[in-house]
Amino acid sequence: MSLFLVYSAAMLLLQLVAQGQLDMEGALTARDRVGIQDFVLLDETTEAAFLSNLKKRFSKDLIYTYIGTLLVSVNPYKELDIYNKKQMDIYMGVNFFELPPHIYALADNAYHTMLTEFNNHFILISGESGAGKTEASKKILQYYAVSCPSTTLLNTVRDKMLMSNPVLEAFGNAKTLKNDNSSRFGKYMDIQFDSQGDAVGGHILNYLLEKSRVVHQNHGERNFHIFYQLVEGGSDDLLHQLGLERGCQHYNYLTQGQCPIVPSINDKNDWKTVKNALQIISFDETATNVSWMLLQMVIASVLHLGNVRFESDSKGHALLNNNTELHWLLGVDAHRLQEGLTFRKIEAKKDQVLSPFTTDHAIYARDALAKAIYGQTFTWLVNRINESMENKDPSRKTVIGLLDIYGFEVFYVNSFEQFCINYCNEKLQQLFIELTLKSEQEEYEAEGIEWEPVQFFNNKIICDLIEEKHRGIISLLDEECLRPGDATDLTFLERLEEKMGNHPHFVTHKLADKMTRKTLERGDFRLLHYAGEVTYCVVGFLDKNNDLLYRNIKDVSLQLILCQIKTCFRLYSRRRPETVVTQFKSSLQKLTEILVAKEAWYIRCLKSNESKQSGQFDEALIRHQVKYLGLMEHLRVRRAGFAYRRKYDVFLKRYKPLCPATWPHWRGVAADGVEVLAQHLGYLPDEYKMGRTKIFIRHPRTLFATEDAYEK
Ligand code: ATP
Ligand code: MG
Repeated sequence: MSLFLVYSAAMLLLQLVAQGQLDMEGALTARDRVGIQDFVLLDETTEAAFLSNLKKRFSKDLIYTYIGTLLVSVNPYKELDIYNKKQMDIYMGVNFFELPPHIYALADNAYHTMLTEFNNHFILISGESGAGKTEASKKILQYYAVSCPSTTLLNTVRDKMLMSNPVLEAFGNAKTLKNDNSSRFGKYMDIQFDSQGDAVGGHILNYLLEKSRVVHQNHGERNFHIFYQLVEGGSDDLLHQLGLERGCQHYNYLTQGQCPIVPSINDKNDWKTVKNALQIISFDETATNVSWMLLQMVIASVLHLGNVRFESDSKGHALLNNNTELHWLLGVDAHRLQEGLTFRKIEAKKDQVLSPFTTDHAIYARDALAKAIYGQTFTWLVNRINESMENKDPSRKTVIGLLDIYGFEVFYVNSFEQFCINYCNEKLQQLFIELTLKSEQEEYEAEGIEWEPVQFFNNKIICDLIEEKHRGIISLLDEECLRPGDATDLTFLERLEEKMGNHPHFVTHKLADKMTRKTLERGDFRLLHYAGEVTYCVVGFLDKNNDLLYRNIKDVSLQLILCQIKTCFRLYSRRRPETVVTQFKSSLQKLTEILVAKEAWYIRCLKSNESKQSGQFDEALIRHQVKYLGLMEHLRVRRAGFAYRRKYDVFLKRYKPLCPATWPHWRGVAADGVEVLAQHLGYLPDEYKMGRTKIFIRHPRTLFATEDAYEK
């Protein structure tokens, strides 16, 4: 038996003893019963062994398993009694491997490392749509809000952080075919702590909201929750005031998906929660009331706008069918709005000419206005939440960032939105690879540590295909958007086929039959993403990427009653704004920069089945996710590698009191001092390695023992 296996077995025994699972009659009954809680300790690193362990644990409602310090989570699709104050207390301040795996353990370890090392951290939560990312991020936030020490009293920042969730979910989440509460925006939240570990502030960065959902939903999907919450939950008085006295089925923007009622969602109750949450978030009650009224008016205005209809006159020009709806768009001059919806203002030298719309154009203008109003309202809301969570104490602080972004998704028809979402997931996978598989192996090499390289699929090739300057899909799309004249979605597709035709991850319809044996419709292109192939329909790509509001519609929207909200509208400028996808690309670039400056923790969420059923472990579906998330490669790197490493001087500075030869001063080279310390502490030869600048420790338990000795 190899040394590693002896070592693994010893570790397993230690874990079982710690958990009180060891049964004296049969030493391995616990292992047989509940599987292994850290994949690093598996007998063999095959996919079959991995899946069998995951399945065994899932059948016992043990949804969490570690790969070293990475947490794998399988969506149970049922409430488990493991998220409460009692559990939080159990995990508070306890070393990672001393208790069964839990999301609280990861949250707690990030927190304590931050406090002892005074550095910044982030937790990257990834997985496809419906895998449990948003739930995971909420559990972590709850853990920090409930468990960390608190010196401030009522209405603290932590309450506001917690309450930001129901509000942003109401405005930014919706039912899709994959998930009844799918995030339709990306969210990165910094939780700021003072040196005592008290949560003192929070800040949210939001990424590309799927605005098109405001005006269009596919069959079986809904608009953003907030619309249904208002119509179902608002009091009779309020609905009367807003002109919304009829049910959801009356509103054009709420009915396209034909499923206003969802069994798992209680819009009425959620409305109350959102109302209460907004009270807590705001500083002062009068301001809350005013803002809240305005918000309700905006939601109502969007619904009324959706019911504005047009008909053609004898020349084919658009006329408003009836303008009663316009009067509900409070604060807007109905005449100017009517003009904005049916004419385009063209500037010719110093003159302005009104050119009439066809009904199609008028509908386009109406929808563009609705999307703009909603999008800007969302931005305004995030800004208000940020103001209210702002850290008022300028003293030294450290942060833990939580990243919860829309997961990879493939629908029957995939459009510009899926392209952006899947591109974002591709970038996060790249970051994971850079920070774990690649940098880990590069570090061993740089430090001169003996190492058996692990092969892995690097998705950089797909990221480049999408985002490379002058050559990637984004550049080609922008070029078509900016090209005057006859550019259309189809000319964009032609350019793509011309330039990308030979790329191994791009499939044109000429190649589709040969490569994947699945034909492509005209108007489609297919990308072979890290998580699987996705066929995109180009219809709407140019429009959605341009996201233009006609000039006179923009003038109208600037006039909106919402004094606060209107400040969010980009003032009309003659410079053409950057396209949507280019803005998104640079915001993801900035996000990457924010993240790489911090220490990373990972949660990989797996979806247990497609039908959202509890107790169903769809092996093929899970195998696919394990594969594309690179979990096997991660396990191999972890297993062969070292869980902990520190620069010699940092290690020596902290632990030198533990050895008489290094205390109070070590006069020689730091590396020699560390070697003396390690031998004095009884580290086994296979348990640590001395690199060029750092000590590498194989298992965290060794370090925990050292840390315990230090504490004593
Ligand atoms: P998207 O990318 O679409 O936003 P997501 O990964 O954020 O998806 P969630 O919204 O977190 O997915 O989870 C989907 C649903 O799965 C939840 O609404 C809940 O019903 C269930 N679920 C997820 N995690 C858990 C959990 N830990 N315990 C119980 N149920 C869960
Ligand atoms: Mg989500």
